[in-house]
Order: sequence, then structure tokens, then C-alpha cells
Amino acid sequence: MKGSGESKCRFKVSVPLLWGHAAGKRVVHNQVSVPLLGEWGFIGVLINEFWTGRRARFSFTAQGTDMKRAMVGLAIVVAGLLAGVREAASAAAEDGASGRTEWLESWRRSNPVWRGVHLLVRHEGGARELEKALPGLREAGINVVIAEVNYGFAFESHPELRSDGAISKERAKALAQECRRLGIRLIPQFSSLGHQSWAGTTFPLLTRYPELDETPGQYPGNKDIYCRSWCPRHPQVNGMVFQLMDEILDGFEADAFHVGLDEVFLLASEHCSRCRGGNPAELFAKAVTDYHAHLVGTRKVEMLMWADRLIDAARFGYGEWEAAKNGTAPAIDRIPKDIILCDWHYEPLTKYAGKPADYASVPYFLEQGFRVWPCGWKNVDATRALATSALKHRSPRLLGHLCSTWGAVGVSELATWPPLVAAMELWKDGARVDGATERRGLD
Ligand SMILES: [Zn+2]
Repeated sequence: MKGSGESKCRFKVSVPLLWGHAAGKRVVHNQVSVPLLGEWGFIGVLINEFWTGRRARFSFTAQGTDMKRAMVGLAIVVAGLLAGVREAASAAAEDGASGRTEWLESWRRSNPVWRGVHLLVRHEGGARELEKALPGLREAGINVVIAEVNYGFAFESHPELRSDGAISKERAKALAQECRRLGIRLIPQFSSLGHQSWAGTTFPLLTRYPELDETPGQYPGNKDIYCRSWCPRHPQVNGMVFQLMDEILDGFEADAFHVGLDEVFLLASEHCSRCRGGNPAELFAKAVTDYHAHLVGTRKVEMLMWADRLIDAARFGYGEWEAAKNGTAPAIDRIPKDIILCDWHYEPLTKYAGKPADYASVPYFLEQGFRVWPCGWKNVDATRALATSALKHRSPRLLGHLCSTWGAVGVSELATWPPLVAAMELWKDGARVDGATERRGLD
């Protein structure tokens, strides 16, 4: 066994045995050369050491560059141990994810109707307040909460984009766990493309990275515009935004994501060198399909969006906020059908031109093959009208009703808020007449 250049090392501890073992050498135990000890042999030696109360004397023989090889062996052992630790951590994460998948399957089975509420949840205090209100909301019938987070999350990839009092990972996780415990599906929202400012305040992305603005340097103080947009063609914008979406998804342990996309007015602007002269529908569809590719394609979650930019105002008679007068509506033919369209209407039918008998965008989106989630606000008559109108359409792709709040009600009073109560009454589980009671919305 001892060739030229061999050396013999003696150690008084057992660890070197591992070196030799990993380096694939023969081991000499108490001067007896034995073939490579397997794990059981090694354990046996340890037991022997313990039993006899003395350290065994080991040596291993190696040929050639013995110590170097032994060091390589040690590196292999350490790498193996680290890999083991990583594997254990990833198995634990998989267990968590698989537990959440089971939870989602069970939620789908027991919730044939989606009864949701949409809230702005953009700081720690707001998240705490919502967590406290959840049992009351569940009692009132709510089974989905859309939490519009935007920049109110403690991003680690881009700490410079956190807004004041941003929600910590721990708070987000606590909220997610409480929602799951109560049988409520928590869906976070990050308003994308448009809504990058409100009144005179520009939000962190375009404040920190003004080069991403669709109208860079224009409209100081946001005068004469509704909200700023980012440029859907800027080569850096999606990479950055997807990091934010990922952190929100992971932080809120979410299986669905709302991308906003409402009321985008600044698009294909003459002030953008990339988009000037572009087709608004194409640009809007590009943004939608980009976000879909990341969320549904890569992250395997469901995607929701506000639907107003997909409605042609001239055809449906809605105003320029709840429908599009800026050429985006044809995008409907260019976006994936598995997106859930949140179709919001806040006025009673008598307020629309021609006093229509129905909110016609609801059947329109159903006919186009989308899942539709009609959404009302604070006017009780309008909420009743929208819910009643929607209930007439027999489709398993009609999900239920979403209540938006927009600051019209405090979270602590939300469970007894009249429009929410009205919607919950109309959209009880048995309210449907189509008999579609299983796994609604998954077809
Ligand atoms: Zn642009």
C-alpha cells in the first residue's frame, strides 16, 4: 500500500479519518491497514472511542500529493455538509409551498363564488389594522382580499423604492397566515404602467429613476395630467419591476397577483423617443403580455388586472375613466385569456347615456373568453345594480363580486359597510342559477 512518495500522518482526532475517507484512501487504524471505512465503520470507530474512553490513533496512508488530496477530501466533505443544509432548507420551503398549494385547492373547492374586497394597504399600520379586521370580514362573507401594496413594501432588491412605513416581510407573512387561517385568499396588487403619481406626488420608481418616465421632464408638479406612466418599452423597466413583484409575491406568500393597469392615459406619448407614434393598443398589450409572461409563465401564479383600458368607450357608453377613449381597447385581442378581468363600474345604470339595461362589458368580456370579476364601490344602488346585472349571466367564468373602497370607509367599519353588505347578500354561494358550483373560474 505504501508506494514511493508516500507519507504517513498520525492524528489524535477522528475528523482526519473523514479526510482520508473522502479522498478515497485506505485508513490505518491502530496500525492495522484496512480498506476504506464506510460510514458504518466510521460510526463504529467513534463508538469504540467513546466506549474505551480514549482517542483512537489513526493514520491514513496516501500516495503522491497526500495532504493536498486530503484537503480536497475535506473540501468535499464540507461542500457535502453545506449541500445537505441547503437541501434541508429547500425541502422545508417546498413543504411550505406544497402546503399552500393544498390550501389553494381546498379554497377553490369551498368557494364557488369570489366575494372580495379591495383595499390600499401600504404601510405597517394599515397591514395591522387589516389583520385585526379579517375575522369580521370573513363573518360578513368576504373570501378574497386584494391588498394594493405598490411601493409600501420593504423591498430588499431596491430599498430606495420603499415608501414611508413600508410593510416588513414579517408583517406581510403574518397577514398571509391569518388570511389562510380564516379561509381568505390574499392577493397583493402593484399598480403597473400607469398610476405612477397621484396629484403632485410622483411615486418612488419615477422619482428615483426619472429616465423610466413615459414623459420625462414633462408636466412639472404633475400639472395637467392625471397620473404618470412608466415607459413600457424602456429596456430596464421590466427587470426592475419584476424584482418588486417577486418580492411582494414571496412576502405575501401569494398565489395570484393584481397588476392594476387602470386609467392609463399617458401611453405612446410624443415625449417618449421609444413610443412616439406607436399604436396604444399594441403598447398596452405588450405591457400586459410582458407581466403575464413573468407572473403566469415564470412564477406560475394567476394574474388579475383592472379592465377599463380594454373597453371601447364609444361602443359601451361609459366615461373615459371606466372605459378607454385613448385607443387601447383593441388590446383585448392580443392578451392571454387566462387573465382575470376586474370590471369596475361605480354608477347606477340610470346615470349612463341612454340608460342601458345592463353593464354590457360584463357579458362582452365573458364572450371574449375571459374570467370576469365585476367590481363596485360606495353607491349602494350602483352596487346592487351591478351585482344583479352580473347574476343574470350564466357562466362559470363569472367569478362573483369585488368591493372597492378607495378610502370611503375605515377598515374597522368595513364589515358592516352598506355596499359591501348588499353585495354579500346578492352573491351568496347559492345565488348562482347556472349550477356551476365547482372550481369556478378554473376552466
Ligand atoms: Zn415609451
